[in-house]
Amino acid sequence: MKALKLVAPGKIELRDVPVPKISDNEVLVRIAAAGLCHSDLHILHQDDSWPFFGTTMGHETAGFVESAGAGVNGIKPGDAVLVRAVWSCGTCRSCRNGRGNACSINGSRTQFPLTPGLAVDGGMAEFIKVDARHLNGIGALDPVAAAPLADAGLTPMHVINTVRARLADDATVVVIGIGGLGHVALQILAAVSNSQIIAIDADATRVNHATSYGADLALLAGEDAATRILAETDGFGADIVIDFVGVQPTIDLARQIVAPEGAIRIVGLGGGSFPFNASLEGEVLPWGVNVQRPYGGTEVDQTEVLQLADDGKVAVQTDTYPLADAQRAFDDLANGKLKGRAVLIPG
Ligand SMILES: [Zn+2]
Ligand SMILES: [Zn+2]
Repeated sequence: MKALKLVAPGKIELRDVPVPKISDNEVLVRIAAAGLCHSDLHILHQDDSWPFFGTTMGHETAGFVESAGAGVNGIKPGDAVLVRAVWSCGTCRSCRNGRGNACSINGSRTQFPLTPGLAVDGGMAEFIKVDARHLNGIGALDPVAAAPLADAGLTPMHVINTVRARLADDATVVVIGIGGLGHVALQILAAVSNSQIIAIDADATRVNHATSYGADLALLAGEDAATRILAETDGFGADIVIDFVGVQPTIDLARQIVAPEGAIRIVGLGGGSFPFNASLEGEVLPWGVNVQRPYGGTEVDQTEVLQLADDGKVAVQTDTYPLADAQRAFDDLANGKLKGRAVLIPG
């Protein structure tokens, strides 16, 4: 079969490899679609010390069950499935408490859990083998539309679930960055709340599309963004700020617009930092602000976002490429040419 391998820093290659052999608890999935994520660019540009060269890339995978091991129940050939991106152990204290995204066995205090496409072979191939525990049935959903839900759907769903109780009808939530994850976040927020949703992006085209995804107000990033949001909230600030970018200007904006007792969620890995001043003097946060750096999501988050997609309330905008054109997809992502989530189609 064909598989897209990360072979050296900055270098991917489509190679012929054997179809994986499954064990009793595993499932072989014939891949229909594999989403491409900004974190794939991050992985692509690791240096020589990266321990996982030779791995098949891709952590947003959907397809159809080809075969299932003897110990697998409830999954049969032909079933449409999503391969989850968080391969938690299922038995540690975090997993037993429903926090598989903080698994202590397949992850650690500083490392997120096992992820296909990173440390083990992922979905940019014709087949993937996966423990049956890490599959969700997707019913009649189109695998091409469903594949990005493994991350671009999961992560915003998880973030929003961390602030779910704050999404009152009179609350204001600000979404910074309306890309792959942000445009899904807007749809989820519109589906699960009546809160005022404000979207911000540095790209005018994305700003123009934001209301179609559920934003009540869309603003172009810039010097007056903080002033405008404070004006929208009677000067008090936004109850929730979700930053899908994570560069210094977006983190600074989050600090400038959050309300007292509000919540900031920094999802993007843009390299910015969050300064914290524990004093009464100088630039300090409003009292009571809750800041979190969320990772991935849980099985519940995955199930919920798939349900929203099945209900027609969440749809990922996709740009499809043949797997053989993966390099072009990576280049288009790197050069900001994509309109939606790039999805690679094998065969
Ligand atoms: Zn990702
Ligand atoms: Zn675990």
